[in-house]
Amino acid sequence: MSSDFYCDEVLSGKTEVTKVVETENVLAYYHTKPSYPVHIVTIPKKHISSLLTLEDSDNELLLELMHVVKTVAAKVTEENGACRVITNLGDYQDSKHLHWHVISGKLLNS
Ligand SMILES: [Zn+2]
Repeated sequence: MSSDFYCDEVLSGKTEVTKVVETENVLAYYHTKPSYPVHIVTIPKKHISSLLTLEDSDNELLLELMHVVKTVAAKVTEENGACRVITNLGDYQDSKHLHWHVISGKLLNS
């Protein structure tokens, strides 16, 4: 398994995804292996390892990223009544490319 699914598979185009929102620097799409009934992932197109490695020079990108997360979260909340917005760090973070999960519903059996 790759440690950067987003650069290696999604942004390279190797793995096709169903887009939810796309801006110049940010992509939100339906998770290819959803853990929840609604599971959308939002990533910066530029490689950033995690929330902890963001730098001041990323501020503009961060704003664009969070705007997309907000748009997705608003849509999911409107359609499902609730959602969670999560970014994982350390051992919880499988793919070392900053990504935000927007999820709704109960954890699916895998
Ligand atoms: Zn990456």
